[in-house]
Amino acid sequence: MSVATARVGDQRTAICRVTLSGTDYRRAHDACHVAALLWNQATDWVHSEWKEKRSPGKYAIQSFLTALPRGERPLHAHTTEILAHDLEDAIATYRTNRKAGMKVRAPWRKKNYRPLSFTANFGWRVTPDGRLALSLGRGRPRIVLPLPGVQDSARGELVDASRWGEIQLCWDRDARQWSLHIPYETGREGSEGTNLIAIDEGIINPMALASWVGERTIEVTVINGREARAVKRCRNKAVGAIQKRLSRMKDGSKRHRRLVAAKKRIKAKATWQLRNFDHQVARKAADFAIGHGAGRIVAGDVRGIERKTRKERRAGRHLRQQLSQWSRGTQERYLREKAGLVIEHINESSSTKTCPKCLTSNRPSGRHYRCQNPACGFTCHRDAVGGVNILQKAIHGEYIPIGPDTKIRVTYLRAVERWSMDQRQAHRLVQRRKARALSSAPNRALPQATAVSERVPATPSTSASASGPLAAVA
Ligand SMILES: [Zn+2]
Repeated sequence: MSVATARVGDQRTAICRVTLSGTDYRRAHDACHVAALLWNQATDWVHSEWKEKRSPGKYAIQSFLTALPRGERPLHAHTTEILAHDLEDAIATYRTNRKAGMKVRAPWRKKNYRPLSFTANFGWRVTPDGRLALSLGRGRPRIVLPLPGVQDSARGELVDASRWGEIQLCWDRDARQWSLHIPYETGREGSEGTNLIAIDEGIINPMALASWVGERTIEVTVINGREARAVKRCRNKAVGAIQKRLSRMKDGSKRHRRLVAAKKRIKAKATWQLRNFDHQVARKAADFAIGHGAGRIVAGDVRGIERKTRKERRAGRHLRQQLSQWSRGTQERYLREKAGLVIEHINESSSTKTCPKCLTSNRPSGRHYRCQNPACGFTCHRDAVGGVNILQKAIHGEYIPIGPDTKIRVTYLRAVERWSMDQRQAHRLVQRRKARALSSAPNRALPQATAVSERVPATPSTSASASGPLAAVA
């Protein structure tokens, strides 16, 4: 396989969460709602055209929308046009899927919100005072927000606004949060070498990467996934508890609605944390690949093992849940983008069982691998064994012993840097002090002040605003 064609993608999209001011918030909501109404009208129109045996294309849909009176579409003309193109895209996807034999329906659902698209220099521009202005059409007030900082996910440097493309303003219903989706061009980067890197993917440790360095050493990096496990477990428990309470409640009651909202918030927060986690895993894996001059990345093929687990009784309830929440595909996609290499897949059966030194098949218990062959006695981390075996198979086509005096150097990495308890406590203290300095409402400042005084005895308060309630406590 040629390496040159394996290099991928030069465009990325950054997602920036933004907070809108009161009037802009309302404006954006109304505009998203109008966009949805236009989408619904266009969908209805396309369906009526189909009934007449006509098949309107992209520009026909566009001119249907732009022919509507201006009062009915209080959006930038480009925003309306992109809406038409999105509908055309959706129809094209439906057609290809139908041809592929999938059971699909042409776009039909009535939308309530649609994201708004803004083209560069027309829909959006940077104001002279360095803020981002999103246009809703001539003669209408704009949505103005602070210019978000977009970081190149490969190089870590800031991407100048002149390199941004068509921006989308989206409303995340569950998180109740606005976000900007900003695509940008990146230069061709990533790994340029010819080395082969093997990856063993797992639920506990998302990735174990292995590579030969020199004649007698294999370097393995195991990326730890405990943060993601904690987030998932916490979310599953919280959602389960809410679900249990919901089942005893009347639909549509005030408490029911409140609980549903709480559930969505919990889910949305976990989604963000897990997205960050997947990026961090991919970042560390890409650093390993680039650092070892990768030209090819080969992973054990675990695609599809999460399917049909119930029907074929291949896993218990908890393992099934873990499997279905495993974001392996996302991590691979991120790694492909960050390392600039396509990830190949090979059969990984018995890669964690086979001893890399003597090829005896063992059943490891726990995370530690110990070879039962008395003549061998090889021990190592279980995921590292998987990585080494996949590496050997990718090079030689089958499992080959690594040689008696070959060393396996294992490094453990946490996917997400985390603070110690002391660091966290110190940070919380600073945050509380800040909140106290900002808060001018005495009833708000009081409980915070008590909490602080319990931990730090007799801190002389310097902030004037909090001196009243603090003095009362002291
Ligand atoms: Zn052995």
